[in-house]
Amino acid sequence: MTKHVLVTGGAGYIGSHACKALRDAGYTPVAFDNLVTGWQDAVKFGPFEQGDLLDRSRLDAVFAKWRPVAVMHFAALSQVGESMSMPGKYWLNNVMGSLNLFEASIAAGCLNVVFSSTCATYGDHDNVVLDETTPQHPINAYGASKRAIEDMLRDFGASNGVNAVVFRYFNVAGADPEAEVGEFHRPETHLIPLMLDAIDGKRGALTIFGTDYDTPDGTCIRDYVHVCDLVDAHVLGLKWLEDGRESRVFNLGTGMGFSVREVVSASRTVTNRDVPIIEGERRAGDCTRLVSGSSRAVQELGWRPKRSDMATMIADAWRWHQSGSYER
Ligand code: UDP
Repeated sequence: MTKHVLVTGGAGYIGSHACKALRDAGYTPVAFDNLVTGWQDAVKFGPFEQGDLLDRSRLDAVFAKWRPVAVMHFAALSQVGESMSMPGKYWLNNVMGSLNLFEASIAAGCLNVVFSSTCATYGDHDNVVLDETTPQHPINAYGASKRAIEDMLRDFGASNGVNAVVFRYFNVAGADPEAEVGEFHRPETHLIPLMLDAIDGKRGALTIFGTDYDTPDGTCIRDYVHVCDLVDAHVLGLKWLEDGRESRVFNLGTGMGFSVREVVSASRTVTNRDVPIIEGERRAGDCTRLVSGSSRAVQELGWRPKRSDMATMIADAWRWHQSGSYER
């Protein structure tokens, strides 16, 4: 009998890729999404349940209908800037929404949770490789909301037997190589999709946010991981829980840093087109360097990133970008 997995945020960028990976691994993903930032046409790999995490009775009905073996929890607001101007929105949707979800899940006897967290929970540790033992001191409400949910899972673990695999993501990039799903945010704030829009004239030049950082070329350094490799780790995390192993936190990054200028130059090579750029001011809240110490997921989960080299990530994003599905 097919095993159902409840995928909150299943109509979003990472959630939709997770649904495909789950389907490919033999599970039936049930996408639960309020469609505030997600897209119903990204739900292609299993049933869709429209609903909001703040609606407990809706959650109870969905758990009763599908009896999932686990929850993969992606649904969240995730814009750092907005979280600073409207922190209440983040505490309500992310933290209260997760509380509702976990209480509904516990009530339904579904105790396995794979949770989407972030390197933003670490805060500002410039020029340090961040591993899972690095102290968490988030500097924005988005990171604080995700850390609170990690704490909540720990408490529900102790009191109710919830088992959780928590993944702290670095910079997620790329798209499904078959371009069935991909990245599409409105508004878009991320480097690679903005750059591809600039390349094919969908918007003006890409502004590089700061060229005076203390890095070799003056621009910020980030650790980019392919969305397909990221969701593969989630399937391994689910199996880890199904095998009855203990709750665990894993970073998901490659351990390799790329500057903004290096990403721009790789995009020129991959697309064979010019990237119009403007050198602008620093963006508030940006750390100089965020690079993962990622050996735990490799050693313990057996995670093997396959597509997380920069050229492949950009090529996959570019293919999606040029596909009909991107034009919503
Ligand atoms: N960035 C940039 N121009 C943009 C968007 C982003 O120079 O229009 C830089 C940003 O300052 C950061 C990197 O690209 O150093 C990645 O930013 P993104 O918003 O994609 O992810 P973040 O690291 O903020 O999660």
